[in-house]
Amino acid sequence: MSILAESVGDIGIVRLNDEKSLNAISVRYDRALMKYCNECGAAVARRWIDQDERERYVCLSCGTVHYENPRVIVSCIVSVGDKILMCRRAEEPGRGQWAPPAGFLECGETLQQGAARETCEETGVTIDPDRLDLSGVINIPGIDQILVTFRIDLETLPVLRPGGECLEVTFLSEHEVPERDFAWRRLLGPASARFFNELRSRDFSINLITVGPSAGVGFSERYYKIQRRR
Ligand code: ZN
Repeated sequence: MSILAESVGDIGIVRLNDEKSLNAISVRYDRALMKYCNECGAAVARRWIDQDERERYVCLSCGTVHYENPRVIVSCIVSVGDKILMCRRAEEPGRGQWAPPAGFLECGETLQQGAARETCEETGVTIDPDRLDLSGVINIPGIDQILVTFRIDLETLPVLRPGGECLEVTFLSEHEVPERDFAWRRLLGPASARFFNELRSRDFSINLITVGPSAGVGFSERYYKIQRRR
C-alpha cells in the first residue's frame, strides 16, 4: 500500500482552537499522507496544478497526479423518549468526550447502512438502516471531513454492549450530558439545543451546518423543517 495513514497532528489541526472538540466530533482525525506513487512506487511530492488551482501529490517519476477527496463520517442519533444513545470515547483524540455513535463510511455501503453498522459496533444496538431519517449534513473543511447524521426513535430501551472504542455507552437526556465533555454541543451550538427541543416536540428539521476552523469562527447553519403529511 503506498498511502500511509499518519496522524495529521501538526499539519492540519494545529490552527484549531477547539481542537479536542473537533476531533471528538469527527471521530478520528487521520489524514492519508501519500509518500509513494501507487502506479509505479516512486516518491511523490506536493506540486501546484495550474488547471486545478491547488496543490496535489504528483509522482516524481511517472508524473501521475494523485487526487484526494474528503472523507465521509456517518452518525446515528438513537432516541428513546427524550434521551439519546451516547458513547464516551476510550481513545484519543477526545478521550472521555461524549458523542453519538459515529465512524467512517465504508466503500459499498449506503450512508444509512454505515450509520447502522457503526451504531452496532460501538453500542451493540441493532437498527434497521431503512428506518433511519436524515438529521443533518455537517461540513468540516478544516479536517477534510463531511459528517452525515441520521436519527431513529425506539420504543423501548435496547440492551447495550459497548464496543472497544467506548469507555461507556448509555442513554442520556440533554441535561444529563456533562457540558464540558459534550463535544457536539460546543461545536454545533444552537443546532444541538434545537435537536433536543425537537426530540421533545417530535417536530424535526434537517440541518445543513458548516463548522469553521475554531469555535465561533466560520460557523453557519440552515435548517429545514420537515412537513408532516396530513
Ligand atoms: Zn509514479
